[in-house]
Amino acid sequence: MRIAEVFIEYPSKYIDRPFFYNIDLFEAQRGCRVMVDFNHKEVMGVITKIKDVDINFIDNLPYEVKPILKLVDTTPLLNNEGWYIVDYLHNYCVAPLISCVNTLLPPALKSKHQKQNIKMINQVVLKVNDLDGYTPKQQAALIFLQNNGGTCLQKKFREKYSGVQKKLLELEAIEIKKVESSNWLIKNDQESINHVLTKQQKQAIQIFNNSEKMVNLLFGVTGCGKTEVFIQLAKQTIDKHKQVIVLVPEISLTSQMIDRFTKEFEKIAIYHSKLSAQEKYEQYRLVQSGKVDIIIGTRSAIFLPTNNLGLIIIDEEHDPAYKQTNNPSYHARDVAIMRSKYHDAKVLLASATPSLESFAKAYKHKYGLIEMNERINPKPLDIELINMQKVMYQDQDYLLSDQLHKAIDEVLLNQKQAIILLNRRGYAPISRCLDCGDIIKCPNCDLALNYHKDTHQLVCHTCGYHCSEKLVCAKCGSTNIENEGIGTQKLEEYLKKQFPQARILRMDRDTTSKKYAHEQIINAFKNHEADILLGTQMIAKGLDFPYVQLVGILNGDATLKIGDYYSSEYTFDLLMQASGRSGRKQDSGKVLIQTYDPNNPIMEAIQKQDYRMFFNYEMKFRHLGNYPPYVYLTEIIISNQDYAKLQQDTQLINKYHLKNVNKIGPV
Ligand code: ADP
Ligand code: ZN
Ligand code: ZN
Repeated sequence: MRIAEVFIEYPSKYIDRPFFYNIDLFEAQRGCRVMVDFNHKEVMGVITKIKDVDINFIDNLPYEVKPILKLVDTTPLLNNEGWYIVDYLHNYCVAPLISCVNTLLPPALKSKHQKQNIKMINQVVLKVNDLDGYTPKQQAALIFLQNNGGTCLQKKFREKYSGVQKKLLELEAIEIKKVESSNWLIKNDQESINHVLTKQQKQAIQIFNNSEKMVNLLFGVTGCGKTEVFIQLAKQTIDKHKQVIVLVPEISLTSQMIDRFTKEFEKIAIYHSKLSAQEKYEQYRLVQSGKVDIIIGTRSAIFLPTNNLGLIIIDEEHDPAYKQTNNPSYHARDVAIMRSKYHDAKVLLASATPSLESFAKAYKHKYGLIEMNERINPKPLDIELINMQKVMYQDQDYLLSDQLHKAIDEVLLNQKQAIILLNRRGYAPISRCLDCGDIIKCPNCDLALNYHKDTHQLVCHTCGYHCSEKLVCAKCGSTNIENEGIGTQKLEEYLKKQFPQARILRMDRDTTSKKYAHEQIINAFKNHEADILLGTQMIAKGLDFPYVQLVGILNGDATLKIGDYYSSEYTFDLLMQASGRSGRKQDSGKVLIQTYDPNNPIMEAIQKQDYRMFFNYEMKFRHLGNYPPYVYLTEIIISNQDYAKLQQDTQLINKYHLKNVNKIGPV
């Protein structure tokens, strides 16, 4: 008997081992999906192995081997490299195999228990070569098909040749086939920019090309022109008939990158979470068919099945968004390095504020290091810290220091633009009971709920829980509840009052939930349809606005105190990136950072724009505290609805002792 080892995704939980099914009746291969009977339910699974076995084997199994019910795919979903990546994820991320397989696939191909529909369209296909014996009108239609590669969308064909379609079908000169719809998402109708490369840009390209290292770190200050370097390297790679993947950390940055790349290249695929399942499927298929030169996308785009990969560029490589937090919790950078080993490709990591890990590797010559320390705009970028300690308790509504207020006035007067960063969305970050002092928390997450004024709701920023009823304190039952602190909504209201003449845009997760909202806000600001852009960390990263003269940062040090070994690195990255939005074209840039902690060495390194100072200071701290990159950290999360059982399990795990492993917790 021939049996298939099938991994299934059972609706309620993962079962991370293969089950055996009889596959005698089907022509299937590893990587095909099948429908099987599992526990009296018809579920979908993926074949991981096919083998011939004898009757002994079957007899010794603790269950009856049932036949496969149906074959879903005739061609395998994963190629050899796909399995190589799945193996890596399965072992390294300790994730169930089926979730690793699913991670590599667009939603329409994932092995879920319900079936996904893939959009099909009608296509007219030419069936004859010899055009003799047809009327001139029919011939015109057939010639059109010939010139079009033998096929045409039926819709388009009907528009042109509606009169002859029926007859040609009868004559069997053409037929109509259902095919998967496939679309390029972008059209290239813009002109190439052709910047003359600066000396520094040319040098960077040269160093990259001469580097023997597989991974190279491009450490380049904000506004030094890294994108042009990406474009040149991509051109070289495509000339060698190889593909390029360009990753950016956030959707808001894909549109800018796409905008720039479509001016130079044609065959670009896009991949990020805002695409519909159908769009993702189409982009996936385009890549698989080998028609794509360049992929631009966020984290999950690293898995697209390019068959001849030459270069992977990871822009803003320090960004935590490259790490997936749920299973399999992979880091896109690690997957990129895995894939480049497979293809013998190169990786370029780029950042103005590299992760300590990457910079340490470059420092130790594991990675090549390429430095760009001059901005394209030679005018200085000036960063000032504003001490807010003195004013802390004077006035609750004191959001802007006098300096920042004046600086905004000046920008408005000069008809330039300002960016104001407040890394906290909503209206007020906490609601507090005035009677007992308790903070109103999310019933699911036990984290403070945030008040949103526009919807009059309390929202949990972690799980999305929201409620709008009159609030009752869970501790004392009081309804005497007040909102404290500020979020972007309240700041917007405040700025509108202070600068009534200014046109203000707000960008945070709430204003960008609709599909093209990111692009709309960014384009409006780019086109100078607003004077002030305020928002959360979303506005800090990588965006290129030519008229911004001022960046103001409220609560600059708030993120220093989030109680995580990583908080200094996060703060340094965020503030340096935000500062880098100022003065990118002609004007000298100004940055004002309001802080309650101006003497903190991290704040000093930011003010001096000195990455190496930050690096040296922070590496000492990491060394002392035994933190990454000196060690690797693994988190083990144990959950159970029964607290007693949870404690039992925790203690069980806690009994294990491994050599060279330090344990913290259980907590
Ligand atoms: P970053 O290094 O921060 O990614 P960008 O690549 O966005 O910087 O470049 C910053 C700005 O400089 C952009 O507006 C870009 O168009 C411009 N720029 C880049 N290279 C050149 C060049 N060689 N000549 C003129 N302008 C350039
Ligand atoms: Zn109370
Ligand atoms: Zn919650």
